[in-house]
Amino acid sequence: MGDHTPHRLNVVGPFYVQDGCCTACAMAEHEAPELFAWDDEHHCYVKKQPTTPEELDHMLSAIACADLGCIRYRGHDTSILNALARIDEIDKCDQAGWRFRWHRFTRLFRRSRRSS
Ligand code: SF4
Repeated sequence: MGDHTPHRLNVVGPFYVQDGCCTACAMAEHEAPELFAWDDEHHCYVKKQPTTPEELDHMLSAIACADLGCIRYRGHDTSILNALARIDEIDKCDQAGWRFRWHRFTRLFRRSRRSS
């Protein structure tokens, strides 16, 4: 699973930005300005957890667009895990079990067969 130490300024909750993993890409702020802020070193962090379907959509977009895969989910909500699996971002989940990893593998396998 690797070292996913959260940035110290992340607000409490399931979504977080990994510390020290930053190219200052600004994608999180672009996709979800209401959910992210910058620290003094231009490293973003989660300032607000999503609480509405629209905010959750924005968070999922930020996860999909962020450089280096540095926005992560450590919760257990199955609907969120499914949503992340649908956009091929299940590897950003700390708690994803084998079912989700298998789902991702089969999607990638089907895609590779279609393109060959
Ligand atoms: S999404 Fe990642 S790479 Fe982009 S600004 Fe935030 S921490 Fe840095």
